Amino acid sequence: MPNHPNPITVIRLGYRVGRDPRINTHLGLVSRALGADEFLVSGDKNNKMFETIEQVTKTFGGTFKTNHLDAPLKWIRKYKSEEIEGGFNGTVVHLTMYGEDYRKVVNDIPKNKPLAIIVGGAKVPASIYRMSDYNVSVGNQPHSEVAALALFLDKLQNGNSIDQKFSNPKLEIIPDLERKNVIDHSKEEEE
Ligand code: SAM
Repeated sequence: MPNHPNPITVIRLGYRVGRDPRINTHLGLVSRALGADEFLVSGDKNNKMFETIEQVTKTFGGTFKTNHLDAPLKWIRKYKSEEIEGGFNGTVVHLTMYGEDYRKVVNDIPKNKPLAIIVGGAKVPASIYRMSDYNVSVGNQPHSEVAALALFLDKLQNGNSIDQKFSNPKLEIIPDLERKNVIDHSKEEEE
C-alpha cells in the first residue's frame, strides 16, 4: 500500500494573491497525486485555485479536499493536541532547508498518527519551527517547495507515492505508447 496509513494534510503558509499562483496550484496537485488527503492554504483567499484542484479531483477521482486556513498557528496547536476537543494527536513536519535530512527523519515519523506537512511562504515565523515536531530539509540548498514536497511524500511512502488509487474517476489514463488512451467512465454510465 503506497499511502501513509493515516491521513496526510499539506499546509501552504502565507499565500499572497498575484504571487506565484501556479506554484500554489502545483502544490495542491502534487499533494493529491502523491498521496495526501487534504490541502490547506493560509494567507489570501484564492477560490479559483481551489476550483482548479477540485476540478482535477472531479475528473480523475478520489476524495481530496482543499480549504482555506484562517489561523494556522491555532490550527497546528489543535491538530497536535489530544486534549483539545477536535484535536488529532497529529504529527507536524515543516519542510525547510535549515532542517534535518529528510532521508533520516522519515524513519522516525510515527505511522500510527495523522501527519501534517507544512510548506513555507515568503517568511516563515519562528513559532512554526518551534511548534513542528520535525524541521526537515530536502538538501540544504534553497529550491522549490513543489520539489521538496514531492521528494518528501515519495520517501515517506518508500518510493511508491505515484501508486495511488483514485476512486470513481470520470477519466482514467491507460499508459499507451501508440496513442492517447483515456477511458471515459462518464460515457459508460450513460450507456
Ligand atoms: N525564504 C524562505 C524561508 O525562509 O524559508 C524560503 C522560501 S522557499 C521558495 C519556500 C518553501 O520551499 C520553504 O519555506 C520550504 O518549505 C520549501 N523549501 C525550499 N527549499 C527547501 C529545501 N532545501 N528543503 C526543504 N524545503 C525547502
